[in-house]
Amino acid sequence: MTQSSNRMPAAFIGHGSPLTAFEENPYVEAWRDLGRRLPKPKAILAISAHWYVPAVAVTAMERPPTIHDFYGFPEALYHFRYDAPGSPELAARAAELLSPEPVAETDRWGLDHGSWSVLMHTHPDADVPVVQLSVDRSKSPAEHYAMARRLAPLRDEGVLVMGAGNIVHNLRIYDRSGKAPPNPLAEGFRKDVQQRFRDHDHQGLIGMLDDGPAARLAAPTPDHFLPVLYVAALQGEDEAPAFLTEVTEGGGVDMTCVVVGG
Ligand code: ZN
Repeated sequence: MTQSSNRMPAAFIGHGSPLTAFEENPYVEAWRDLGRRLPKPKAILAISAHWYVPAVAVTAMERPPTIHDFYGFPEALYHFRYDAPGSPELAARAAELLSPEPVAETDRWGLDHGSWSVLMHTHPDADVPVVQLSVDRSKSPAEHYAMARRLAPLRDEGVLVMGAGNIVHNLRIYDRSGKAPPNPLAEGFRKDVQQRFRDHDHQGLIGMLDDGPAARLAAPTPDHFLPVLYVAALQGEDEAPAFLTEVTEGGGVDMTCVVVGG
């Protein structure tokens, strides 16, 4: 991966169920390959769809626990641990950058499967400190984008900002058999997102959730979409996006990853 400066890339990862993370499949292969191509970061700030709370918070402990935030999966998944260290320094730096937004530096969360199911492949040695940033459910897409813009200096400080969610996330229409034909509305939504990244149309991305039937189908709740805006906000004017694993699984979960600056 070539870089025109010392800026770290930023990446949005379309993650799957925890089961996906333990399978050999094109997604985990692509995540491993991405991890090998990215410069080694000093730390990672992960914005996970699964920490969707009415507050802006960062994990600030030295040793963030692995959180198994899912039910009804095989027992072995509940024993998995991703033992990356935390970084109270990065938590404090993120809070400083987000000021005057009040940011809770907390020890009441950890690394949930939105981040560890990806990080276990991109950074399998778990030797890079990881801080999670919540997705504040009380904020509008425009407010999320504005907050994310303030995190831009982190890219120059060797921090990998990683959003973990899905461009399309609708489990009601998701077909686990894999036999459903592609859902044209869902695929169209994803392609619109990709085009807006290519066009640097960030206002368009912010407005995607107001986009009528396609948005209601793609993002019936905004939690998995909002991390996209954190990576859009960090896309430099000279940075074309790169896309990995451009597939909408089962018509309802899109696995597309977006990398900027890498
Ligand atoms: Zn998820």
